[in-house]
Formats: sequence, C-alpha cells, structure tokens
Amino acid sequence: MARYIFITGGVVSSLGKGLASAALGALLQARGFSVRLRKLDPYLNVDPGTMSPFEHGEVFVTDDGAETDLDLGHYERFTGVAARKTDSVSSGRIYSNVLEKERRGDYLGRTIQVIPHVTNEIKDFLKVGADEVDFMLCEIGGTVGDIEGLPFFEAIRQFGQDMPRGQCIYMHLTLLPYLAASGELKTKPTQHSVKELRAIGIAPDVLVCRSEHPIPEREREKIALFCNVRKDAVIAAYDLTSIYEAPLAYHAQGLDQAVLDAFGISPAPRPNLARWEDVMDRLTHAEGEVRVAIVGKYTQLEDAYKSIAEALTHGGMANRVRVRAQWIDAEIFDREDAAPHLEGFHAILVPGGFGERGTEGKIKAAEFARTHNVPYLGICLGMQMAVIEAARNVAGVAKAGSEEFDHEAGEKRFEPVVYHLKEWIQGNHVIARKSDDDKGGTMRLGAYSAVLDASSKVAEIYGATQIEERHRHRYEVDTKYRDRLEKAGLKFSGMSPDGRLPEIVEWQGHPWFIGVQFHPELKSKPFAPHPLFADFVRAAVETSRLV
Ligand code: GLN
Repeated sequence: MARYIFITGGVVSSLGKGLASAALGALLQARGFSVRLRKLDPYLNVDPGTMSPFEHGEVFVTDDGAETDLDLGHYERFTGVAARKTDSVSSGRIYSNVLEKERRGDYLGRTIQVIPHVTNEIKDFLKVGADEVDFMLCEIGGTVGDIEGLPFFEAIRQFGQDMPRGQCIYMHLTLLPYLAASGELKTKPTQHSVKELRAIGIAPDVLVCRSEHPIPEREREKIALFCNVRKDAVIAAYDLTSIYEAPLAYHAQGLDQAVLDAFGISPAPRPNLARWEDVMDRLTHAEGEVRVAIVGKYTQLEDAYKSIAEALTHGGMANRVRVRAQWIDAEIFDREDAAPHLEGFHAILVPGGFGERGTEGKIKAAEFARTHNVPYLGICLGMQMAVIEAARNVAGVAKAGSEEFDHEAGEKRFEPVVYHLKEWIQGNHVIARKSDDDKGGTMRLGAYSAVLDASSKVAEIYGATQIEERHRHRYEVDTKYRDRLEKAGLKFSGMSPDGRLPEIVEWQGHPWFIGVQFHPELKSKPFAPHPLFADFVRAAVETSRLV
C-alpha cells in the first residue's frame, strides 16, 4: 500500500503547488522510490476539456485519453511517469458520479449527503492503484477555505484516519510576504492559513514557505512554534531562475528529508541527483541562442501553450543552446504581410488550436517557411494548415480548407482537404461519433500508433518506424488528396496502422518541414527531450549558422 502525501495551499493561489509536488516526486524517485502524482480540482467543470485556454491554460492529454489540468504535465515532465485518467478529478466529476449512482438507485434510497457520499467518492478516487507505488502524491487545487474545496479537505482528513498510522502526511504551501517599509517577512498569513487547515482537522506535517527574501532562522523558529510544525519541516521556497532547478533547490532546503522524517523512514536512502544535475548543467551552460517564432492564437497567456514552451526548452537542452521563443498572433497576418514579421527567426512553429480565427495567418506562416527554407514544425492544427497551404498553392486545390471552418460559419466555402471524421479504429475497437455529439468528449483523444515510412526524415529522427503519440482533435487530413499532394512534394510519411489517417507530412527537398497530427510536446521531458523537438532545434541551429 502506498504512503500518501497530500499537498494543499494557503494564503494566495499560484504559489507553485504543482511544481513543489512534481519536484518532491522527482526527489523521492532520486531516493529509489516509485511515485504517482494526482490532482484534485475543486472547480465544477467535469473536466478541463471545454475550458478556454485563456482562462485555464493548456489542456493536458494523457495516453488513455483524459483531458486534464496542466499540472499533470508538470508531474510527467518531472517524474517521467505517464499520467492516467485516474490521476485527475474535479468536483464536477465527483458530483456527476454521485448523481449518476443516485439515479441508478445504487444508494438504496438513502439521503445523499456531502459526508459521506461525496467524500467516499473522493476517497475511492484516491485509492485507485494504491498498490502500484511507494508514494502517492495528491495535490488539492485552490486554497484552503475555498467553498468548493471543502469536500476535498474533509475527504483527505478522513483518509488519514482510515489509513494505518504513519501512512499519510500533509504538506502545506504558504506565502511569507515581505514588507519593504519595515524590511520584514511577515508570518501572520501563514499562521492564519495553518489555523484554517487545523480548524477542518488537518495538521500539516511539512510547511513549504514561498518567500522572495531569505527566511531568517528566527522567523523559521517562530513559524514552527506558532504552526505546530517541526523546525526542520519548515522549508523555504525561493524564486528560481528555471522550474527545473526546483528538485535541487528543494533538496538543498531539506524537503525530501523532512518528508521521509515525517513518515519515520530511517535511515533514508541516499539520493542520486545526477539526472537533475545534468539538466541544470545543460540549462546553465548553453552556448548561443536560436530564435523560434510561434504563430498561434492564444498568445496572451503563456500557460495556454505550456507544454510547447517546455518542449522547446528541452530541445534547446538537447543541443546545448538557449531557445528564445517569440509568440506572434496569427491574426496580424490577416492585415499585414507575414514576411517582415517572420524574417530573422531561425525556425517557425505553428501549434494546435480550434476554430477559424487566425487560420489564414497560420497558412501564411506555413507558406513563408516552405518558400524561405525555414524549419517548420506544425502541430495538429499547424499540420492541417500546412496541408491546406500545400493544396492551395502547390497542388492546385484553390479552395482548399477545413470542414471545421465551414461548420463554424454554417456555410460551404471550402473544398474540405481536412474533414470531420466520424469513425476510426483504436486498438481493436471501432470508435464512432455523431456530428451532434456534445462539445466535450467528441475528439480523437489519447495515444494512437503511427507507422512511419522507413525512408522518411521522421523515421530517421525517431530512429523507429512505429511510434505512439497523443492526439486531441476532431478533424483529419483527407487521404483523397494524398496522390496530388505527394506529387507536389508533400510526403505522407506517417499513417495510422490501418493506413486511413495521415499522422505526419513532410516536404521533400526542404531542409526541415514537418507537420504532425498529434501533440509531441506532451511527451517531452527535460531529461529526455522529444526527438522531434530536439531535431527541430538542431535544424534551427543550422539555420542560425547560415544567416
Ligand atoms: N481544430 C483542429 C481539429 O479539431 C485541430 C485541433 C488541435 O490543434 N488540437 O482537428
């Protein structure tokens, strides 16, 4: 049975709970333990699939096809453990399960209440797969005191009582604000936050205190005393230059030791931090810089493309260069010529997206990359736009477009080179979808295999002809146009195993132009950069040498 670590937050949001959880997971691995990380989100959406990336950041997709919170991306990037559907849950999902059971009569006519029915549903979620790992790290979204979060806090309190003694600990993140006028760090908000937590029956074992200034010993003692936490379990979390510094920084502050002490694991196995030392060495000893333009839609919020930004950083680490990514709003190209905006970049990336807005600009970016021999990586919508560009400008399909845009506009304006797929194969099953399915849950989601042409550039990059990558889309490139596009020079170099769905296209005779229907960024790690991103950055380095 796994030991459980519950991670909660107080004082303010955005303290880096996800990062602290991920870093702790990495440190426990470094000491030889197996881990799994989970996220419990108090919001009422059933899953983040339908939430705007502007509001909630990226939707992170798991191999088994769940649309989850971007924190699961952090967990995977730090631990390399592939997240599952059962690692993410929201209040909406919990309540919807409970109500479904109630309708089915599972509760035998009893009155349904938050305690015990909702809390039991949460505890059942926590227990899934408990026998598989040494440590289960469960992060509760939001901050203590939030109305929506209460059933989660109640459930983790009960969980601690249900388990044998010493099987669960609670780690709480808070903020120590600095008052410039008096030159002091203030501990009162932390004290209040812990008080709030204790009022609902949870006494934290470890306190992680975010601070922009060094925490004096005196203040640490005071926090320990007033919050009823051991002094060496008051861990300082200072601002970092890179998120990948977190495992080493937390280790230096004694986080993993404090956690093992709280469980009474003694002697603690010695950590092997070589992986993170190498990651930091690559980050801090980069030589040179490449400039990559990301032409997208959700450019105002950095979190909207979190995994892409991280995967580019990993690609830079693989080549020991810094990657300076600049986000360009695709809609600018509706009004202005693309060339002046894109000249000077060593590579262009067009990420995924939904809806027609900005797509003509993305098509122009693909055209610029093709005609100027600039490395291009098109991801999902970015691949579809590259295919439309090829169809319109090279293969003579003047009105090429995507059914997605006609569907949205309610009129037929395009010849659908990219069309709405209603049925496909996953493993040994046929998956069908009606066009009137509700917005959530109608996509091709999760890991699918692709077979690569052995003579293609992608096969060389992957060093394999069979790959598995994660998908999240409704529309597909139509193989009806394959012959015409291949004659024009756009090779379909990766296909679904049944040969029906184009997974990868690449321009022949171009230094590096690849479009992929899947999201390679979701599988990249700092200690194992994704081959496509590593090679894309390598190609950018080559371009930078030419200019
Ligand atoms: N909107 C496109 C589709 O649904 C692309 C989706 C994406 O880029 N993730 O097929």
